[in-house]
Amino acid sequence: MERKVRVRFAPSPTGPLHMGGVRTALFNYLFAKKHGGDFLLRIEDTDQNRYVPGAEEYIIESLKWCGLVPDEGVGFGGDLGPYRQSERKPMYKKYADSLIDNGFAYYAFDTAEELDEFRKAAEARKDVFSYDLHTRNGLKNSLTLSAEEVSARLQSGQSYVIRFKMPENREVVDEDLIRGRVSFNTNQLDDKVLFKSDGMPTYHLANVVDDYLMRITHVIRGEEWLPSMPLHILLYESLGISENRPCFSHLPLILKPEGKGKLSKRDGDKMGFPVFPLLWKDPETGDVSRSYREDGYFPEAFINMLALLGWSPGTEQEFFSMDELIESFDLTRVVKSGARFDPGKAKWFNRHYLQQKTPAELAALFLPMLNEKGITPDLQKLGRIVGMIQERCEFVKDLWEQGHFFFQAPESYDEKTIQKKWKPDTNEKLQAISTLFETISDWKAETIKEIFSAFMTEKEWVFGVVMVPIRLALVGGSSGPDLFEICELIGKEETVRRIQSAISLIN
Ligand code: GLU
Repeated sequence: MERKVRVRFAPSPTGPLHMGGVRTALFNYLFAKKHGGDFLLRIEDTDQNRYVPGAEEYIIESLKWCGLVPDEGVGFGGDLGPYRQSERKPMYKKYADSLIDNGFAYYAFDTAEELDEFRKAAEARKDVFSYDLHTRNGLKNSLTLSAEEVSARLQSGQSYVIRFKMPENREVVDEDLIRGRVSFNTNQLDDKVLFKSDGMPTYHLANVVDDYLMRITHVIRGEEWLPSMPLHILLYESLGISENRPCFSHLPLILKPEGKGKLSKRDGDKMGFPVFPLLWKDPETGDVSRSYREDGYFPEAFINMLALLGWSPGTEQEFFSMDELIESFDLTRVVKSGARFDPGKAKWFNRHYLQQKTPAELAALFLPMLNEKGITPDLQKLGRIVGMIQERCEFVKDLWEQGHFFFQAPESYDEKTIQKKWKPDTNEKLQAISTLFETISDWKAETIKEIFSAFMTEKEWVFGVVMVPIRLALVGGSSGPDLFEICELIGKEETVRRIQSAISLIN
């Protein structure tokens, strides 16, 4: 029987989710939805030393913001929980025991100090110590100690670990759905710790047991886990559960903008772009990291950008809604080589999604920013304003930069424009126009323009000579949307007042 597709995102709560982690979640989500399957969130918190408070909540909120809502998992319910590994602690022991009983694992009693000595000695020989088939026979474990001694040590409560006994000289081969055939020789691999005497499994055992118990069919994770794959495959085999083992896929790294090396938070700090989805305040240092949401990115832009980091649809299409991504996504079209991150592209996507919004939608997003400044505009008017400046914006916050003059008089005037355009008779001309404006009763852009044009013709003034000074008076600079629209929107009184201010301030 064909198994229902079930995938999981299995982060460890050791800090904020990096955008690479979000991409892993996204590809899992897309794969699940594409195949009518389930997307699970499992929190892998077996390493309590690395636990960072708030990280789990951060992960959950990030997934929600991105629209990657799990079908099951911590915070989302489900029949195969608990989905937090620390709460599953009692479930793992029997798997560790079965590995011991069947000779696939062994107890090791070497203390941290002893292992450290070996490490140092190896270092002195310019070598690296590894607990493996070459060294295990000289160490303190159930392979070298007598059965009596082992049980005495266990009985006395001495601390131990259970290690996987990596078989000798075996070729572990698998088909990675992204990488194709991958093979490892077990002689290169060490005897990883699977379980500790405090009753907690390590990542490897917990990960495999949970993928099995949660009926995971496909493991889609970052490239950094590829070296763990042979151990995981051997664990399935040794536990006798290979039949239900998932297929593996390892996603390519996300690379720095310059193309070499893994993208890090430091690159973001240095070059001024976020690597985290949401604002993160480090609980220890209090440092605040910038983030996509707080920098003003739309989640749909963030997701669209991430989807194309390592995956391509094989067509020219660049803009994808979540539904379109689900429709087009194909794991076999994910590349093996690293995907270079381009911060400019992220902005470009944001610009696109901002242009897709209606002025009314954007006005609603802009309004809180205005309210914060104590400005409470008429909503219909705000929609009109936004419609006029939207095209020039990448982010909602740009609306202020492009349109602040709709809400407040300029605080200064562009010097260069004054130098170029403010002639000895400019004040006189502006005064005449100000007087003309005061006589206009139907204060509509169309009417203002008509009356103004007739006036200009009558005076035989050239448009260019007065238009720039008027604009300077109204907005403080030499560019912006249609001048008569601005006049209408700020109102007759304000228009006249600003022209008068400019006359008295600029000479
Ligand atoms: N807990 C691992 C991580 O933090 C999960 C790796 C996996 O998906 O197997 O990435």
